Amino acid sequence: MNQIRKLPEELINRIAAGEVVERPAAAVKELVENAIDAGATRIDVTLRDGGLALISVRDDGIGMDEDNLRLAVERHATSKLPDDDLLHIASLGFRGEALASIGAVSRLKITSRPRGEKTEGREIFVEGGKLHDPAPAACQSGTVIEVRDLFYATPARLKFMKTPPTEARHVRDALERLAMAFPDTGFSLTHNDKTVLELPPRKGKDGLLQRLSDILGREFSENAMPVLLEKEEAALRGYAGLPTFNRGTSQAQYLFVNGRPVRDKLLSGAVRGAYADYLARDRHPVLCLFVDVPFDLVDVNVHPAKSEVRFRDPRNISGLIVRGLRNALEEAQHRAATTTAQQALHYMSPKQQQHESSAWQGGYSQDSAPYKNLKGMEGAAYRYPRNGGGRNLAASSAAMDLPPSARPPQYTPAAQENTDTENIVESYPLGAACAQLHDTYIVAQTKDGIVIVDQHAAHERLVYESMKADLKGGSVKSQGLLIPEVVEMDENAAEILLQSAEAFAHMGLEIAAFGAGAISVQATPAPLGQVDCKKLLRDLADEIAELDRPLSLKEGLDEVCSTMACHGSVRAGRRLKAEEMNALLRQMEKTPHSGQCNHGRPTYVELKLKDIEKLFGRR
Ligand code: ADP
Ligand code: MG
Repeated sequence: MNQIRKLPEELINRIAAGEVVERPAAAVKELVENAIDAGATRIDVTLRDGGLALISVRDDGIGMDEDNLRLAVERHATSKLPDDDLLHIASLGFRGEALASIGAVSRLKITSRPRGEKTEGREIFVEGGKLHDPAPAACQSGTVIEVRDLFYATPARLKFMKTPPTEARHVRDALERLAMAFPDTGFSLTHNDKTVLELPPRKGKDGLLQRLSDILGREFSENAMPVLLEKEEAALRGYAGLPTFNRGTSQAQYLFVNGRPVRDKLLSGAVRGAYADYLARDRHPVLCLFVDVPFDLVDVNVHPAKSEVRFRDPRNISGLIVRGLRNALEEAQHRAATTTAQQALHYMSPKQQQHESSAWQGGYSQDSAPYKNLKGMEGAAYRYPRNGGGRNLAASSAAMDLPPSARPPQYTPAAQENTDTENIVESYPLGAACAQLHDTYIVAQTKDGIVIVDQHAAHERLVYESMKADLKGGSVKSQGLLIPEVVEMDENAAEILLQSAEAFAHMGLEIAAFGAGAISVQATPAPLGQVDCKKLLRDLADEIAELDRPLSLKEGLDEVCSTMACHGSVRAGRRLKAEEMNALLRQMEKTPHSGQCNHGRPTYVELKLKDIEKLFGRR
């Protein structure tokens, strides 16, 4: 029989260290959390070789005296659970493991002097878990922690470290997350003598937005919507980026629970759900959200690095996030990201043409690029008359071959003077349509710039929103076909569609079996107008095959609506009349979320005059 033995303290600490500090970023997180818990107003982090050679964290917090210094590096020793109460944890730390773990696998030196005391400082040294006696040391009030040769005592772990620049990037990410949660504390990060981050304290009402702007760039604050929702005892606050301001990964989603940075599937799932309508599956919003719940409704003690939490009532929390984000998106109305205009200018400016000619080569043949482009403009389908052009807009919707419900509501000029172009330009954010280019783009003049609209993307969004509005009030109106249209398709696809017939009927599409491998379409969703039934059914069959089961009444509606909306939209390549274009613009202004299509691409780009002037060197 094998004898069971108690492990020596040093070995226990090394095993624990494996969970708490898996890489330099985790050590930095623990040390900075300690500094925040100590009430620091300024925290400076210094790294050498990605933190593998040295991590130093200096703070101006409350500091420690000699007795506390000794205790601080012992395992399960903490000042943060005075009442043994694991239910009301107001500090970031509480496990009393970090310093012991770090000391077990590195050379750790802590120098500290209690705040407000005249005594001199003390330093303590731990090497691979062995404690040396404290000694007097000169230092300012506060604490400096230096970690040298991390993982030298655990060579197996050391082998898993990435290159210093990669480790430094992880440190920066961890520090930025904490800095978002504590905007009124100052932070800095230096790597191999180079300052990587300098975050001054940001106080007051706009402190958080300023801090986010410092970290995520000014673009974020220009394209962010405030989020604020309180429900029962829980609260959601923060800032969320417009859908058109999106990224290819979810890296730039910062989520916090009671001020603690967390990575949580439930929360990120809720974020995905809230944006599902506005973004393609592979695009992700940029946002920073704080969930605050009473201490007893969340368990923070489920993960050694404290980066996961467990909610007593997870559904309430995801509901809070979805509702809060949807409200914010609703408010954003037709706003599209300012960055789309900047990107456009970037491609247009003459400098870019020289350096990045590939941007042009994509669209035009290399030799004649700019001239070809001009010729296209000459052939513009329509030029808006300067006077009186806007008259008779009321008749406009009839001109679009769309059924009544999808037609932009009629715009009736209140007074005669309101009908001329200049007045439209003055009174409406998206201005007056002046021309349609390449049968695809509407160009409009606004008060202080020009707007270019992608007619297909914009109309698709309008149809989609109108279907959604119908669905809210019950079901989508349908439009009966005089003669049912029979669509032949392979038996499998037909079967798949028929199984979802009830759900489709709810969305205005009425189908029935018509012998093997054929479906008869009796009615189509009214908002779509005239549709190519064959193409629509094929796309829907694909959609549902991907879903892998029949559509139920409640779910998948959004997905399917967006597929339908795509079919019901004015396609690129259709020539529009002036009235139709203006009606589209007016409708966009009224419709929530019309700044982006169902895939998160912008539906229009606005160029301000001052930007255009820059293009021509007038500014
Ligand atoms: P925890 O943070 O979970 O309590 P740690 O091992 O991180 O555990 O720290 C142990 C104790 O050391 C803390 O409870 C705190 O009292 C003290 N301590 C650690 N870092 C600092 C610091 N920067 N300033 C003041 N006290 C500190
Ligand atoms: Mg701690």
